[in-house]
Amino acid sequence: MTANRRAVPLPRGWSLRTRDIVAVLVANGLLIGAMWLRHGGLDQLSSLSGWFIAAGELTALLGGYLALIQLVLMSRSPWLEQVVGMDGLAAAHRWVGFTCVWFIVGHVLLSTVGFALADGSNLIVEEWTLLTTYQFMLMAGVSLLLFVTVAVSSVRIARRHLSYETWHGIHLYAYLAIALGLGHQLVTGVDFAHDAIAWAYWVALYVVAAAMILVFRFVHPLAVSLRHRFRVVNVEREGPGVISIYLGGRDLDRFAIRAGQFVIVRFLIRDGWWRGHPFSISAAPNGRWLRLTVKDLGDDTTSMASLQVGTRVYLEGPYGLLTGARRSRRRVLLIAGGIGITPLRALFEELPAGPGDLTLLYRASRPKDIVFREELDHLASARGAAVHYLIGARGSRAMPADPLAPGALKRLIPDVRERDVYLCGPTPMMEAVRDGLKALGVPRGHIHFERFEF
Ligand SMILES: Cc1cc2nc3c(=O)[nH]c(=O)nc-3n(C[C@H](O)[C@H](O)[C@H](O)COP(=O)(O)OP(=O)(O)OC[C@H]3O[C@@H](n4cnc5c(N)ncnc54)[C@H](O)[C@@H]3O)c2cc1C
Repeated sequence: MTANRRAVPLPRGWSLRTRDIVAVLVANGLLIGAMWLRHGGLDQLSSLSGWFIAAGELTALLGGYLALIQLVLMSRSPWLEQVVGMDGLAAAHRWVGFTCVWFIVGHVLLSTVGFALADGSNLIVEEWTLLTTYQFMLMAGVSLLLFVTVAVSSVRIARRHLSYETWHGIHLYAYLAIALGLGHQLVTGVDFAHDAIAWAYWVALYVVAAAMILVFRFVHPLAVSLRHRFRVVNVEREGPGVISIYLGGRDLDRFAIRAGQFVIVRFLIRDGWWRGHPFSISAAPNGRWLRLTVKDLGDDTTSMASLQVGTRVYLEGPYGLLTGARRSRRRVLLIAGGIGITPLRALFEELPAGPGDLTLLYRASRPKDIVFREELDHLASARGAAVHYLIGARGSRAMPADPLAPGALKRLIPDVRERDVYLCGPTPMMEAVRDGLKALGVPRGHIHFERFEF
């Protein structure tokens, strides 16, 4: 998703931009560096063992700081999400996570080598001494093992072989790893054990991060769900393996969601209430109901067809930057592939549509895979917009060439360079279309997209 440069609504009079976030991160990074210097980081560099020990301390501080940033990224804070997008948060989470684990592993290796050199012992004896002598070291050992397990499970090749639930379950151990590691830092860390100000600063950082998780992942969604009392009011079949779930509730006109955004939904049924799934709304908000349209891609999405009317629903969100707020040009092109039609269907209803201003390209392999056909045709004629269905398996007689390749796209939409383009579909299709759009001269900042995977 492209970065949103606009200020977002925070408490009145506040705004948040990418540069503010970078400034806070850098300022805290500098404070941590200063803390290491103040506690004699450089004074140790007179011997080889001192170099290792000093580097071990620095990597510990940086690893701890990155763990803290991970907590903030895990909080799904709507403020951060509205600046960098869920996609940006997920990418940052992945990068920060791996870097954090490298720093922590580095800390263990560097410190062990440093102390072994200082004591004239071998590495195994030194590691054993460290583990059995210092307080909280066993906890730190368990924390390290958990961190490494989470990181290994997230390496792409392992991730491909794990179900989403198993991977997510392993990921939850990261919270335990961070808690166990914090005890070790505060009690054993040279920077905190004898400096009350540093100790208070570090604890304050963790309290803020933990509070963000509590507020944004639990308190706010709970308050929203209690206030609006979301319920399933209807389930309709849209096509093969695709259903629409209509949600009713109280004061829905006050639920601040926009066309193109998504929510993370938990249906409060006995089996599966704890599993949240992200779904985009597939109709513009109307204050009376919200519609989610779901393709059966796994166990939960398949079982949603039998959801009972009246089922209570717990919602997190709204999230997402794929909204009309990103439009900077009068003319807009929407490009959907498969179930990626959902957010674009809502935008097709909501975005302004003067003559020739709004065009939707909808790519599907088979005619029966097109959902909302009647609705789309109706919206197109009622609003003076255009819709083109691009149907056929690529390479088949019906579709010998890719209809979304740059040449074909340019023939279909000659003014594509002058448009904002909104894109949603399978990841390989989106990547190919994005490359094609850039080749046609559409600036990056005018291409907006939503990925259906974190
Ligand atoms: C921002 C966003 C918007 C989406 N909007 C829609 C939509 O409008 N309509 C629709 O049909 N699908 C949508 N999806 C995809 C949908 O969330 C998954 O297909 C669904 O969660 C699969 O659940 P499952 O248990 O049936 O499948 P599983 O077999 O458990 O998972 C199939 C795949 O779905 C993904 N997935 C599963 N659970 C989650 C989760 N909790 N969070 C993120 N990804 C998950 C994983 O990549 C997994 O490999 C969206 C996804 C995202 C990230």
